[in-house]
Amino acid sequence: MSISQLAREIAESPTLKLNEEAQDLRDRGEAVIHLGAGEPKTKIPFEAMLSTAAQLATAEVRYTPTEGIGSLRKAILRYMEENYNKVLGKDNVIVSNGAKQAISAVLTTIINPLDEVIIVAPYWVSYPEMVKMVYAKPVIVTPGDGRFQPELDDVTDMVSSYTKAIIINSPNNPSGAVYKADFIGGLVEFCEKKGIYLIMDDIYHKLVFPPAQWTPCYKYSQVDPNQSKLIVINGVSKLYAMTGYRIGWTIASKQIVDTMVNVQAQTTSCPPLLSQVAAVGALTGLQSGVESLRLTLENNRKVMIQELNAFEGVKLIPPDGTFYSLPDFRAYSNDSVKLSRMLLEKVYVVAVPGKEFGMEGHLRLSYCTSVKDIMEGVARIKWALDPNSPNEIYIGDRKLVRDWK
Ligand code: PMP
Repeated sequence: MSISQLAREIAESPTLKLNEEAQDLRDRGEAVIHLGAGEPKTKIPFEAMLSTAAQLATAEVRYTPTEGIGSLRKAILRYMEENYNKVLGKDNVIVSNGAKQAISAVLTTIINPLDEVIIVAPYWVSYPEMVKMVYAKPVIVTPGDGRFQPELDDVTDMVSSYTKAIIINSPNNPSGAVYKADFIGGLVEFCEKKGIYLIMDDIYHKLVFPPAQWTPCYKYSQVDPNQSKLIVINGVSKLYAMTGYRIGWTIASKQIVDTMVNVQAQTTSCPPLLSQVAAVGALTGLQSGVESLRLTLENNRKVMIQELNAFEGVKLIPPDGTFYSLPDFRAYSNDSVKLSRMLLEKVYVVAVPGKEFGMEGHLRLSYCTSVKDIMEGVARIKWALDPNSPNEIYIGDRKLVRDWK
């Protein structure tokens, strides 16, 4: 069958694939421990539930304006004021079907074929693929010495006359790094001077553990928002545990937003109404759920760090935000894909290979699960890898015998 060259070059989503495999194993009755999760397991905010129900009760669920309903765009503008200390207008916001689609629509709007887009490793798996989908070239910046914190020079050294945009994700998926204020400030200043688009993916911005602090990019911007090439991406998926609602948004100049409206109008028409009203509920309702999620994650993170620190050979740069850690397993294997497969097949632990994030030899372990699962998951990994561990363990009521070296 004839498949386009572009589509053939797009990699499968490794996280979604692992989820499917884990589900298959669970369906077969295996006691899978999922340290690959990319979503909080908490309930959605009460106000999100109520507003969805109220809209449903009208029995009217129709198209909305392409850029999103007025009440949601207003709630997002208030969110920008509260969290970014930035007053913007309705012309500066467009709502999409998740932050993922928002980024994709941004790229379609600003990128020409053969342009270069700079991405800092470790990076979210989708960025390079999304850049390829607009026939552009992802240029990966890898901070030296296994660091997760880029320096300004790491990025600016890779800028060429083809560079159209830089994508920054802090707090970072998969490392949990929260980039330093002077890096963010320096980059905003650099991009404004050079006229390069700076896309800030802030989807985890409230999941930060003190003393680390997240820095809003607008603090350093000197340019009027409607002349600015700063583009901010955010959404309700992670902070409000609303991954299934698919609501994200873009903040940008009026010219970018107007063009994105055309792009979105010709691809998805609009985000779903029920999801939009739910997002209004989440953004305007009680915010205590976000802080309680952050506190739970802070505790889980402590457990993950403790368990990994007790794991000889494994090196961890402690995450300062998100719900991911990215320990270095090179003492055991340089092939993270093989290692991840072995852990799933032998001890039923899901861990995402670092290779997919541009960090070979590492595994992404999520602590967005129960403390019990974090402890048991790391214990199983240790049993599988440590040649000094006993020859047998029990998983549930099943005895596993090590038949590998
Ligand atoms: N950016 C990053 C860094 C992410 O980790 C994710 C989700 N895994 C997204 C964007 C997409 O989020 P959404 O569910 O809003 O599409």
